[in-house]
Order: sequence, then C-alpha cells, then structure tokens
Amino acid sequence: MNVIGATHQLDTFEEIAQSRFAGHDLRVLSERAGQTPFFAYDRQRIATRVAAVRRALPMGVHLLYSIKANPWTPLVHHLKGLVDGFDVSSASELRAALDAGAAPADITFAGPGKRDEELRLAAAVGAVVSLESASEFLRFNTIADDLNVSPPVLLRVNPALNDLQGAALRMGGAARQFGVDEGECVPLLRRISGSRLNFQGFHIFWGSQCLRADTIAGAHAYSLEMVQALSDDAGVVPRRVNLGGGFGIPYSAKDSPLDLAAVGAGLATKLANFERRRQGTQVIIELGRYLVGEAGIYVCRVLDRKVSRDETFLVVDGGMHHQLAASGNLGQRLPRNYPLALAGKAPSDEAEQVHIAGCLCTSIDFLARSAKLPRAEVGDFIVIAQSGAYGLTASPTGFLSHPRPPELLV
Ligand SMILES: *Cc1c(COP(=O)(O)O)cnc(C)c1O
Repeated sequence: MNVIGATHQLDTFEEIAQSRFAGHDLRVLSERAGQTPFFAYDRQRIATRVAAVRRALPMGVHLLYSIKANPWTPLVHHLKGLVDGFDVSSASELRAALDAGAAPADITFAGPGKRDEELRLAAAVGAVVSLESASEFLRFNTIADDLNVSPPVLLRVNPALNDLQGAALRMGGAARQFGVDEGECVPLLRRISGSRLNFQGFHIFWGSQCLRADTIAGAHAYSLEMVQALSDDAGVVPRRVNLGGGFGIPYSAKDSPLDLAAVGAGLATKLANFERRRQGTQVIIELGRYLVGEAGIYVCRVLDRKVSRDETFLVVDGGMHHQLAASGNLGQRLPRNYPLALAGKAPSDEAEQVHIAGCLCTSIDFLARSAKLPRAEVGDFIVIAQSGAYGLTASPTGFLSHPRPPELLV
C-alpha cells in the first residue's frame, strides 16, 4: 500500500490496497457501475458516523443532514433513517427531503437567494424557512398571506463575532450575503413576531470545514449568548435554535481529525447555562460533510502513462468534471492532493512520483500533482478518498460533455 496523506482513513486504505471497498471487490463494483469512473458510498460508515455524532452531542439535540453535501437520492433516503431531519438550500432539495419522508417541520430551508416559487413551496408545505433579510421577510409574508398560511420561520443571524480561527469557510463575523447582521436583528424580530408568520427562533451558520473543537465550542457559546440577548431585547421566545454545523474532516496528513467528544462536551456545558433560562428550546445541529465526506470514494482508471521532460503523467478517465474539489478548483486557498491510492498494490511496491491528469482538454484538470504512488499501469484503478461530500454535486459535469458517472451505495 502506498498512500498519500492518509493517516486517518487507514482502514479504507488497507482495503484499497486489497482492491476492495466496504467489503466489495472494486472490479465487481466497477461492473455494477457499468463503467469507470464511478463513486461509491459506504452505508455502514455513514451509519457509524451518525451514531458517533449522536453519542457525542448532548441528549435531545436534533441532528439534521445538509443535503447540499451530497443530494444523491439513495444516500438521502439512507440518511432519513438515521437523522432527525434535513437542512435544504433549494426547492429541489426540499422536495428530496419530502420524498425521503421527512416531516416539513423537520426541514429547515436556508439560502441567500430564494425565488418566489421556492418560498411558495416552503410556505405551502410548512417547511421551516430561515429568513435571510428584511426584504425576504416581507416577500415571504406576502406569499403566506396569499396562501392564507402561517409557516414556521427562523431568523438567520450574521453574528458579529470576528475571532473564529480554524474554519476554512467563514460565513459570519464580516459583511456577508447570509443572514441579517446581529446589530440589525431586534427591530426585525419585532416585525416578524407581529406578522402572520410563525416565529420559531434563530439560525446561525458561522462556517464550514472546521477541525478545531475549541473554535466550534466558541461559536456555540457565542451563538447561545447572542440568542439569549436578542430574544430578551426583542421580547420573543425562541422555540428552536439551529446552531449550524461546520464540523470538518481531514484531507491531508497535516490535518488532525476533529475531537468530536470535545465538541460535545463544550456544547453540553453551554447548553446547561442556556437551558436554565430557556427550557424547552430545541437545539439543532446541521451537518453535511462530516456525515458523508469520509464514506465515499471516487474510482477512475489509468488510460495512459506518458513522460514529458522527465515527469511522469498518468492520464485517467476521470477528472475535475466529476471531482472538482480534488482538482483544487473548488475555492481552496491551498491546493493540496486529496488522499488517494492505487488499488491492489502492496505497500512494499516501489513508489514513483507522478502527476495524475484528468481526461479533459484543459490544463487545470489534475486529480493530483507530484504524488508518490507505486508504479501504475494502464487499466489500474486510482481511488480518491474523502469523496462523499461536495464531490459529484459540486463538479461541472457538463464541461466537455462526458457522461455523468454512476454512484453506488454499498
Ligand atoms: C452548506 C451548509 C451546511 C453544511 O455544511 P457542511 O460544512 O457540509 O457541514 C449547513 N448549513 C448551511 C446553512 C449550509 O449552507
């Protein structure tokens, strides 16, 4: 086995060295897919991860799956049996959550640019809408009037905190298109609670891909105090508080996995204080990447090996049109290789340095640069780990007009 940057997924990589995944032979999976490239997701690993999150979080906290991370229908249906509801960001995701059997009250709908059709759908079914601005409140109120309904809403707050370290993607603490600035919330809360909308509480989404438990604990502490203060100032009662998610997963050997127990313990301490004042407030955590990211692989096949000016290129049948994030083109600040391996090669096999080029006719299509792998031959499988979240769904599948790769839940 020769593995790049994988110290945390050793069980996965030991399997890949045996040319297996989740107990299945990769050749059999490729026949099942009907082709390479394909994605495969391990249902047991997802269930195990959800169970670990539930064990770590304080009792009674609701866990939602953020469909945006991976909206593939069989995966969403699998998660329906494991989590308490869904976080959605479009009408299609809302329909996917409903089709999976979720109750509308267990679906929260966030997003800075909801179209009227999307708001009408949410109002009609009674999904919980996170209001992101004063004008969206007015628009939603008019729609509710028109449909003669009183749909549940949260106010999404852009927190004023500005010292969050260690989150790759920050969605608070600065000028943002998300939510309403903390300082602007009180008058709007009064208007919402005086309207026909059914005010339910708050939504705070402070960031994403965070590997530091202390940062997450800090965000939770800040959010709960902020909710307390805003509720007191506006004279409203929050029945639900969605604290967002942001739990990260390791993508390279330099990343340490999140200390989930520490996140849970931090939240338990903060909630004990909060609940003394706000008993009965439902606390919600919404996670995408953390629940499914490590459960997925992307498998492609070596089509060609060639040498250009002493550098070896493996050209594969996949690429950035399927796995944009692995190519470093999904907004990463520091492009790094995803953890990847050559299927079926023993650890003792001699390594060579290669670039793994995708099949697209563009110079930005690399799945890895300067990777150390055992010698790969045409026909071998290259497996990219950590591909369960923001993989196919976040990739430009139309670019170069190749067929969409199949997905398998195994
Ligand atoms: C994207 C998103 C999530 C999921 O983020 P992950 O980092 O995948 O856990 C959760 N909530 C909201 C509002 C989002 O936009």
